[in-house]
Amino acid sequence: MNHILRFSIGLERMGIGMRKRLLATHAQTPASVAMGDAMTLLERVVSAPPKNTWTKDEISSIYNTPLMELTYAAATLHRKHHPHNTVQTCTLLSIKTGGCTEDCSYCAQSSRYSTGLTATKLSTLETVMTAAREAKANGSTRFCMGAAWRDMSGRTRGLERIKDMVREVRGLGMEVCVTLGMLDSKAAEELKDAGLTAYNHNLDTSREFYPKVITTRGFDERLRTIENVRNAGISVCTGGILGLGETAVDHVSFLHTLSTLPEHPESVPINALVPIKGTPLGENKKVPFDSFLRVVATARILMPGSIVRLAAGRINLTEEQQVLAFFAGANAVFTGERMLTTECSGFEADRRLFEKWGLANMKAFRGEEEGGAKRIAEVEKSGKIGEIIERV
Ligand code: SF4
Repeated sequence: MNHILRFSIGLERMGIGMRKRLLATHAQTPASVAMGDAMTLLERVVSAPPKNTWTKDEISSIYNTPLMELTYAAATLHRKHHPHNTVQTCTLLSIKTGGCTEDCSYCAQSSRYSTGLTATKLSTLETVMTAAREAKANGSTRFCMGAAWRDMSGRTRGLERIKDMVREVRGLGMEVCVTLGMLDSKAAEELKDAGLTAYNHNLDTSREFYPKVITTRGFDERLRTIENVRNAGISVCTGGILGLGETAVDHVSFLHTLSTLPEHPESVPINALVPIKGTPLGENKKVPFDSFLRVVATARILMPGSIVRLAAGRINLTEEQQVLAFFAGANAVFTGERMLTTECSGFEADRRLFEKWGLANMKAFRGEEEGGAKRIAEVEKSGKIGEIIERV
């Protein structure tokens, strides 16, 4: 038995003991009865195999569990499925900025809003490779490229150039992810053949709140792109943005859609809105950290094998808040100077953070080989989580 397993069993025993004491002390009040119910549920999810049949009621119970208990359960489950101290570092490059025809109301790159952003053409291969080599030299194991496009239809030459970028970056031994808007199955297959590791296409928010954020493409169109990516054999990276004006009920619904996809996404980016002046959401308040943490911890519990990724807005978290999010199950970050159009924690700052808190870089393809859907299938088949942890 390795130290990860021993540690998680120890935590589990300690937590169950604490829970019993708490229940004995506060058993008479309605609030504590509710708390007791939630704790029982958490005990169940910690020992249960991964599933994609979650109900909104189950998710709501988890999401609304007292925050310390929720964080503890997520941390326990995290250690069952992942090494406790490794975090994937990825760098995101904008390869075509601005001028997008869509109306995503948070986005600086929409041509509908005056944000002062200058639109650019598709980057050259040389520019991309310079950035990718720099990212690799600074420890990034995954390189993501984003183009501000509605979709790939009619972009035959653009697709060819992006395939070249994918091949070359993959040749550096890095995982490669792109986000290019909506994707049909043919383009997805071509990108797969070029060596693409993952495709990012966020759901953004709940199905119910979605029309208040975007009107130029539907929620189901997003799901179709995710399906095309999955069918092509590319890893799915899909998550959302918190702080768009949504409620806790929307968080539950958003997590419900993600966790009941036919296969859990290998990667679940959680963004905190960075309000951009000139966009309709430019004056939004930042999402409270306790809400952010609830989403991270609940995502970890619902999709235990996935990589949960702290994305845009991490720059606005304190060091301690980031560490608490890692503790609750986040295990990837974007690092570098910029994340498309917003600021990002730099390579040096992240190096210091990792060193101080005893975190290590996840090696390339570890998440792909052992995370997400494949890992879930393995757990379900064997029913022996412990054996899998022994191999990590
Ligand atoms: S989020 Fe993407 S699709 Fe929406 S406006 Fe921005 S670049 Fe365009």
